[in-house]
Amino acid sequence: MIILENVHKSFGSLKVLKGVNLTVHEGEVVSLIGASGSGKSTLLYCINGLEKIDSGRVTVDGTDVHAKGTDINKLRQKLGTVFQQWNSFPHLTALENVALAPRVVSKIDKAMAREVAAAQLKRVGLSDKLDHYPSQMSGGQQQRLAIARALAMKPNYMLFDEATSALDPELVTEVLDTMRMLASEGMTMIVVTHEMSFARDVSDRVAFFKQGVLAEIGPAREVMEAPKDPDLQRFLSSSTR
Ligand code: ADP
Ligand code: MG
Repeated sequence: MIILENVHKSFGSLKVLKGVNLTVHEGEVVSLIGASGSGKSTLLYCINGLEKIDSGRVTVDGTDVHAKGTDINKLRQKLGTVFQQWNSFPHLTALENVALAPRVVSKIDKAMAREVAAAQLKRVGLSDKLDHYPSQMSGGQQQRLAIARALAMKPNYMLFDEATSALDPELVTEVLDTMRMLASEGMTMIVVTHEMSFARDVSDRVAFFKQGVLAEIGPAREVMEAPKDPDLQRFLSSSTR
């Protein structure tokens, strides 16, 4: 379970998170939507410890992410993160990219790590790309590679930060399909997305972010089809898909 309690975060004088409360339960898929600059990415980074918080509390399976004694590297193994782009090492093949973390972090031997990697690449439909370098792969394949890298650490949670935003439209579907597969397998996911149909159809809940505040949150259909917040109504009517 991921719990955020009254989380505040500023960059200098800019208040980016203004008292965020959010609980994400095991097996849940929560989509975060909202205008650019509203604090969605910052929220994800406060969960995986890439950003510090000013006050409040973030716990992952009961461990306080920002407490002094917390082993953040160990905690991060539970949290697979997929960014918009540049997720993989350009000088390593797909197989090497996925095998790297299990080998280094979990200290399993090379053959075992390659086995784990091949299995995860198969899971995301990249069995035929094991020896390809990222530059030899399409944007959609690179994002699926990024997902396989995260999965290789056997995370309890997956965090997606606009994983499809940098892709050409025809490549978006294959990545969303992979995310949909993970959701159907019961993976707990927090998904920052501009894909409104994904938010509506795949998420259990949708949260609308407005200037650092969770302005509306609820069951996906309810939030997407009967939004209460006037800004959310405007946001949804201006979204194309
Ligand atoms: P979103 O993901 O919703 O577009 P972000 O969380 O990236 O929003 O950013 C929220 C606000 O915080 C923006 O105004 C952004 O410019 C600012 N911001 C984000 N990261 C930093 C940083 N490292 N230093 C200073 N300002 C930042
Ligand atoms: Mg962002």
